[in-house]
Amino acid sequence: ASRNGSVADPPACLFKPLNVPHKLLMGPGPSNAYPRVLAAQSLPLLGHLQKEFHEVLDEVKAGIQYIFQTQNAWTFAVSATGMGAMETAAVNLLEIGDVALVGVNGFWGARLAEIAERNGSVAKRMVKPMGQVFTLEDIEQGLKEHKPKVVFLTYGESSGGTAQPLAGVGELCHKYGALLMVDSVAILGGAPLFMDEWNIDALYTGAQKVLSTPPSISPISFSQKARDVILGRKTKVRSFYLDAPELANYWGCDENPRRYHHTAMISSVYALREGLAEVAEKGLEKSWAQHAACAELLYEGLDKMGLELLVQDKSVRNPCVTVIKVPEGVDWKKVSDHAMDNHQVEIAGGFGELAGKVWRVGVMGYNCTPENVYKTLAVLKEGLDVHWKKN
Ligand code: PMP
Repeated sequence: ASRNGSVADPPACLFKPLNVPHKLLMGPGPSNAYPRVLAAQSLPLLGHLQKEFHEVLDEVKAGIQYIFQTQNAWTFAVSATGMGAMETAAVNLLEIGDVALVGVNGFWGARLAEIAERNGSVAKRMVKPMGQVFTLEDIEQGLKEHKPKVVFLTYGESSGGTAQPLAGVGELCHKYGALLMVDSVAILGGAPLFMDEWNIDALYTGAQKVLSTPPSISPISFSQKARDVILGRKTKVRSFYLDAPELANYWGCDENPRRYHHTAMISSVYALREGLAEVAEKGLEKSWAQHAACAELLYEGLDKMGLELLVQDKSVRNPCVTVIKVPEGVDWKKVSDHAMDNHQVEIAGGFGELAGKVWRVGVMGYNCTPENVYKTLAVLKEGLDVHWKKN
């Protein structure tokens, strides 16, 4: 018995059935999960050091190599959401005092700069307004001025809605002795990406966007160059949990027998395997084309409604996350709430400097169908009809 002889009562809420409504998640993530992904999560657990589970890990690794278009040996998944993968890349590549040149054209560059600084590294911010991307000239200027060890760019911005052009960036970084680190959380699988061909040194993504897998586990890959830099560090990686050499060993990426590092997310690994299988069965090219086609339908529908997009230049729009300007005199939240309260459709707002000024619509993975785009447009139109008083 406890010191006062009584045990606190169990919470009454846990005696009620778990209540989870069905919603159509058309925000910037998570997207709805594939049914086969959800089914995989209810398969029996295996031990994380058992050979049958290691076979699943190998399948996941092959799937990640495919979606990233890479042969990198150090390719695995981190037991964390996208931010954990971001942090893994940063804390492994950067030591105290190392300089990172960080492209900040939205929330994610700012976040990475913060992570680098908390690691004792130096973040040099290359700033652009949200909705704009960096040119090769911008990046070269930053490389000359700051001589960074790592350059960070967000391929698919989910706050500003851009797709950062990456052709030639890797070569440029290497010319100046820097490594290229790229965030592809909100675009991977929805637009072309060739890790090896584009000379990207550290690349990560999330599970809950185009892979339509519950947020939990995040693919990551390091080039040979990045691996050599990490193995040649003067100091140990400051995070034990996110130590890439340890994780790579567990994922069978080196010659040594797999060692226990932490208990793998067994059910999330099954789920990721099925999310990757969906993309593999469809084929990357078809997946990219479907996302481009659905984005086009969305742009056309929004244009017909008299709505404008934040990113003017279509060639640098993230097809997975569209940022729509809220017209003058409209309360974004009323329209967004209308969609949720009446149709269980999620239409997100903006954040950072765009809070209150934009909506964000995500069309990704399992949700990437013309039907879902039309439904989202119809719901948005209905909300605007109620809440937009045009004169
Ligand atoms: N990067 C980008 C571009 C994202 O959109 C997100 C998630 N919205 C993240 C990183 C962080 O991922 P998570 O929320 O899964 O930690």
